Amino acid sequence: MQMLIAGQWVDGNGTIPVINPFDNAEIDAIPKATAGDVDRAMAFAVEGAKRMRRISGYERYRLLMRAAELMDEQSGDLAETITLEEGKIIGESRGEVARAIETMIGSAEEAKRLGSEVVPLDGASGGGNRFGFTLRVPCGVVLAITPFNFPLNLVVHKVGPALAGGNSVIIKPATDTPLTALKLARILLEAGVPEEGVQCLTGSGGEIGDILASDPRVRKISFTGSRDIGERICRTAGLKKVTMELGSNAPLIVLPDADLEKASHAITATGFANAGQVCISAQRVLTHESIYGDLIDALKPKVEALSTGNPLEQATKVGPMVRASDAARVAEWVDEAEDQGARLVTGGGCDGAIHAPTILADVRPEMRISREEVFGPAVGLTPVETVEEAIGLANDTNYGLSAAIFTENLENAMKFAREVDSGNIHINWGSQWRADLMPYGGLKESGFGKEGPKYAVEEMTETKMVVMHLQG
Ligand code: NAP
Repeated sequence: MQMLIAGQWVDGNGTIPVINPFDNAEIDAIPKATAGDVDRAMAFAVEGAKRMRRISGYERYRLLMRAAELMDEQSGDLAETITLEEGKIIGESRGEVARAIETMIGSAEEAKRLGSEVVPLDGASGGGNRFGFTLRVPCGVVLAITPFNFPLNLVVHKVGPALAGGNSVIIKPATDTPLTALKLARILLEAGVPEEGVQCLTGSGGEIGDILASDPRVRKISFTGSRDIGERICRTAGLKKVTMELGSNAPLIVLPDADLEKASHAITATGFANAGQVCISAQRVLTHESIYGDLIDALKPKVEALSTGNPLEQATKVGPMVRASDAARVAEWVDEAEDQGARLVTGGGCDGAIHAPTILADVRPEMRISREEVFGPAVGLTPVETVEEAIGLANDTNYGLSAAIFTENLENAMKFAREVDSGNIHINWGSQWRADLMPYGGLKESGFGKEGPKYAVEEMTETKMVVMHLQG
């Protein structure tokens, strides 16, 4: 596919192949954008920001609702594209498209709700006879940089709110999964979004990322991706608004009073979806020693039932990772943990980009499989003696995106909710759960700022304070 700059579908300086991670087939190729392409897109986006802010909230609502309808009409193609370029099993890809449509509709609704507030200035000393109110205005040009693991929904989480808020937007999708984003850009144009309003540039982030992020014409960067690239963007961005949605190594605590059938089901569902490549995948299962063996017994058959294979086939439950090199990295971390004393309960090893769904027991907090973000189909169990120890270990990380506990005890559940430093807290389900309307984002090095259309629109607009100094 070509990329979208200044309303035209264009080539760049050479191409990058897009590879199906299951069979290594080249499914398409995308252009490599140059610094000149970035400059052209920026100049056009500045005009786009002027144009978008003149479009009424109601009209922006209608444009985004039309985009949602077109996404629905093209949902089969979008789902297949996600599976082909990312390796996500087809059922999950269909689920992602359905969610993305809801995210677009939620964004459309926010376009009608950009309200402001009357500020009671007569409450301030010397503030009488003045009338004050806020005005919510667009930031201007929004740069949306997205990761590979949700090639559609995470793009919509940025583009929808950006357009709803009256901004223009430049999308820079992940190089592994650019086709879905390009198709979304085409849908937005088809829906009637002005060509200045949306552009999509492809090419390696390592080559054009700094040029994009440092451009002063960008007024807001919304980034989802790894911690290290996020930190780099923060350094490069300079004085502009930034939202960071970064990684994690989510903890999940299981206490003696937990329903072990439910907990083992949740660990399987939330540790292995998308081959574990979800920022909130359950990774560290901190289990009370009194039920440690029982939980492993309940978990093992469920994980062994996860058949691997071609992600286009309905029977496949775990598809390939995005690259064979990532599967090899996870296998290396599993081997390293075993060498350091962890016990392989099931799985281990990879074949091409497919890594076997893996459970490791007796994982210690200092092992890489626990300390760093695995981002693959491997879950580790660590025994604990008390709820205090479990909470201490849950917090013993730089990350803080999602955390879960299984207990029937309200006191322990509330203690967990209050004391674990995490942007999302789940009680009696796994760490990987999200409704797209909720405020979603991390604490600590998992990032800052919130997504979810209502909250993202706030991040993508700015507040002016207006004071009328009256005479009478
Ligand atoms: P990544 O390697 O950080 O890449 C993310 C995006 O940044 C890609 O578009 C990438 O482009 C671009 N990029 C690379 N270098 C850049 C630079 N110097 N300047 C600007 N942009 C640059 O992440 P990923 O492997 O795609 O995704 C996995 C990570 O995302 C995991 O850590 C996961 O936890 C995190 N994630 C977080 C959330 C959340 O909501 N918190 C959701 C999903 C994923 P190229 O592809 O061209 O390199």
